[in-house]
Amino acid sequence: MLRLSGTAAGSGIAVGPVRLPAARVLVEERRVAPERRSAEISRLDAAVTAADAAMAEVGRSAAAPAAEGSEIVDVHRAILQSDELVDEARRLIRERGIGAEWAIRMVVDQLGLAFAQMKDDRFRERFADVEQVAERLLRRLLGLPAIRDDELVAGAIVVGFDLSPVDALQLHRLGVAGFATERGGPTSHAAIVARALGMPFVFGVHGLVEAVHAGDTLCVDANFSEVVVRPDEATLRSFGERRAAEAERFRAVAATRQSPAVTLDGTAISLGANIESATEVAAALEAGADHIGLVRTELLYLARPTLPSEEEQYRDAVDILRAAAGHPVTFRTLDLGGDKLPMGVRIPVGPNPALGMRGIRFSLDRQDIFRAQLRALYRAAAVGPLRILLPLVSRVSEVRETRRICARVCEELARERIVFDESAPLGAMIETPSAVFTADHIAAECDFLSVGTNDLIQYAFAADRQNEDMAYLYQPMHPSILRALAQVFAAAAASGRPVSVCGDMAGDPWNTWLLVGLGLRSFSMAMPELAFVKSVVRKTELPLAEEFARASLALTSAEEVSALASARFGARLALELDGRARPRTR
Ligand code: PEP
Ligand code: MG
Repeated sequence: MLRLSGTAAGSGIAVGPVRLPAARVLVEERRVAPERRSAEISRLDAAVTAADAAMAEVGRSAAAPAAEGSEIVDVHRAILQSDELVDEARRLIRERGIGAEWAIRMVVDQLGLAFAQMKDDRFRERFADVEQVAERLLRRLLGLPAIRDDELVAGAIVVGFDLSPVDALQLHRLGVAGFATERGGPTSHAAIVARALGMPFVFGVHGLVEAVHAGDTLCVDANFSEVVVRPDEATLRSFGERRAAEAERFRAVAATRQSPAVTLDGTAISLGANIESATEVAAALEAGADHIGLVRTELLYLARPTLPSEEEQYRDAVDILRAAAGHPVTFRTLDLGGDKLPMGVRIPVGPNPALGMRGIRFSLDRQDIFRAQLRALYRAAAVGPLRILLPLVSRVSEVRETRRICARVCEELARERIVFDESAPLGAMIETPSAVFTADHIAAECDFLSVGTNDLIQYAFAADRQNEDMAYLYQPMHPSILRALAQVFAAAAASGRPVSVCGDMAGDPWNTWLLVGLGLRSFSMAMPELAFVKSVVRKTELPLAEEFARASLALTSAEEVSALASARFGARLALELDGRARPRTR
């Protein structure tokens, strides 16, 4: 038995057999500088040669099992050498500076779409061979030992170096019970997806891939940020008991999920859900959401070769609005760039993607893409209450320019006699320090504000949200963040604009008193957290929360705020906070 610690994304416990996954899970989305691209291509070529030699060896081996008989080996070797796979990957490295592993993965995803459209089942099924070959190649590239082509089984724990947001979604659909990885970040988009799905995920577990074998039992404990490899009987029993206690606690908290979110002294708090697609809306309303506070539109479109047309975006938005049945929905325009790179468009992110072409910057740069989305959203606004939210605003001029584009888009729609609603409110995300400092100016040009604490914390601390070694600097309770929030809330109040927080900070019940005390009245969060936050709201006394927020603003560290939180309400909110590690600081 081996205990390894990491950092938790979300909460919960899962126990199951380890799957060192198919290649899909292990890929790091890495860029290669122009001067290193030919070396990267050579690295790919060397891996192809080595994988081919290993396959040839399998083909020669008389003892090879039937599935690896010489015929299939020949097919696999042909796939390995094919232009469609390797040549295309070389092109992505050469022209777009995509790392070799990621390039292979992109090509396989593209081939998957082409195969899926084939009419003949026998051809369609051949895609499994392409995936297996790609897996071998990736394992070569990553220097991992060859593994059996294991099927993912329901209830398995997927272990890998890293996890992309698309992997998280796909693996969840396959019935995987939890994730544990060596890399990641508390608000990386994979972590956000895992949290939204209620999947236990522990990242930053150094040495994990080396320590496990496929089929080992693994406990993922996202409450206490650790994994246990090959647990002994007593540990397994205690995990079983804790899981049962967790389920019981959830039932108790969820009992009030459909009750109004009002404090003990009658202040109403609006609680929304963050979603990625229409399929999540019903569950969000069922979990107690009164609005959808953030639709991350880009996540629907990452794992495909092209960006969506206006028509497709319109249909997706209408599906979401219909599912929301009259509850307001805030659609954020495409937040591409950073760690969210679609396959079909070239985004010149630069050497430091988080500080590069991202969010509204990309949309203003590629107005053809932006205008298609705005047209779709203004059209959908005629179907239900819809707000448009701009990501990564850092200057008020970006809002002004967007307003001009919106006006042109609406004129166009009117000219074309297409039904639309130009009164859809336009808001800005406050997630860069410069937006915080000028929140008053931005508020004056917008209809509403929404604070993205994930990015705000990343940029305030200069700590990459994707880097597990910087995870300790994810400190929502730090007075710097509390002061930033107080400034934004004051600017919103002074200009009479509504403000909400849709970053993950809003979904941690440890922060509910702080946020309510600082003046926040609208939250949006991952669906599984709604019941917990609502339960805390219903136990909140506004004067106490305000006093706690005031005292916190005067403290000097997140540790002090966290200790004060424990002292003030730790016992009172035991039901909601128990089993949830106190905010991690260092
Ligand atoms: C945020 O930054 O807090 C946010 C909500 O946006 P995202 O996590 O998608 O960057
Ligand atoms: Mg953000």
